[in-house]
Amino acid sequence: MAEQGFLKPKAGFATLAIHAGQEPEKWKSAAVVTPIVTSTTFKQPAPGEHTGFEYGRSGNPTRNTLEECLAALDGAKYALAYASGLGATTTVTALLNSGDHIVASDDVYGGTNRLLRQVVSRLGIDTTFTDVTDLQKVNDAIKENTKMLWIETPTNPLMKVVDIEAVVNIAKKKRDDIIVVVDNTFLTSYLQRPLDYGVDIVVYSLTKYMNGHSDVIMGAAIVNDKDLEQRLRFLQNAMGVVPSPMDCYLVNRSLKTLAIRMEQHKKSSLIIANWLLNHPKVTEVLHPGLPSHPQYEISKKQTCGHSGVFSFRHVGGLKESRKLLSSLQIFTLAESLGGYESLAELPSVMTHASVPAKQREELGITDSLVRLSVGLEDTEDLIADLDQALKAAF
Ligand SMILES: *Cc1c(COP(=O)(O)O)cnc(C)c1O
Repeated sequence: MAEQGFLKPKAGFATLAIHAGQEPEKWKSAAVVTPIVTSTTFKQPAPGEHTGFEYGRSGNPTRNTLEECLAALDGAKYALAYASGLGATTTVTALLNSGDHIVASDDVYGGTNRLLRQVVSRLGIDTTFTDVTDLQKVNDAIKENTKMLWIETPTNPLMKVVDIEAVVNIAKKKRDDIIVVVDNTFLTSYLQRPLDYGVDIVVYSLTKYMNGHSDVIMGAAIVNDKDLEQRLRFLQNAMGVVPSPMDCYLVNRSLKTLAIRMEQHKKSSLIIANWLLNHPKVTEVLHPGLPSHPQYEISKKQTCGHSGVFSFRHVGGLKESRKLLSSLQIFTLAESLGGYESLAELPSVMTHASVPAKQREELGITDSLVRLSVGLEDTEDLIADLDQALKAAF
């Protein structure tokens, strides 16, 4: 269901999630449910000939099935599954050469920040972190040797929304060989389809909403361009960052309920955000589905609404945050997001502790900023839980 002014979800999405790549005829047994193929090797009819599969790292029938479904959900030609979201990110950055330069959002996912600062930088690939909601800053950050633009929208944990189309236009106007990447983990292909705006690669931590059951670590890269697909396919095998067939089965199964899960996450989180907005101890609610959000108009233009993850600030400090988080009974105090169970965390000392303190301060990741991942429990119960925890904290 479309909220006022937001895009409508893509017609046929739920049908594709259930049927794309899942034809029973592709299996000898005509199995309706995708089999878990654990075999690491496949019999060849003659030396050097094979029937599409040789060795489990270079291709696996369960993984291929998941990849077909993932591609369909983004309206894309190709999808590649990796051992984790960061595995997908690592592989995508391996498209670059020493001497190349990356421009990235200043509040990218903490693990991406760490990878770019502490690993990719050692390979002679520098990153400029900038506020990508400021298009002038994006333009100014692009250098002669910039080969990749890495954005996340909304950002984490500040929920800044980036105008995808505008950023793509800036990059492509400078040079058409700049690869624009969007990490779409927070919204999924159900709520936002970056390839529609000219983005080259969509990256997912499937660990979050796409799997949605908090029981698999996995990532993916989605592309339309054949050349990029082949380079990423080569790296998937050459670097060995592959997921297990069992995990591929679980994610493939989880996609069947993605549409209805995201509808419920969206609905419930907006109700809770509005409730927090009116709470006397809450000073700010950072939720792109609220008209008070600074990039509400952009959000309406490029998304079908917001998911279950958002942040809020309260009038207290570290002590109150600690009390609030330890008083919650339905929300679990834990990192991660996007599962059926509600989670709450304190980015300054948990998910974003690896971001240098000075950068954290500049960004506004303070000790009074709490991040929620609204799960699929009854909304009334979640509100009651927040209510009693806020009472306990203040
Ligand atoms: C969790 C996350 C990642 C990393 O994914 P893993 O599956 O944990 O490796 C990357 N980007 C975003 C936005 C995330 O939330």
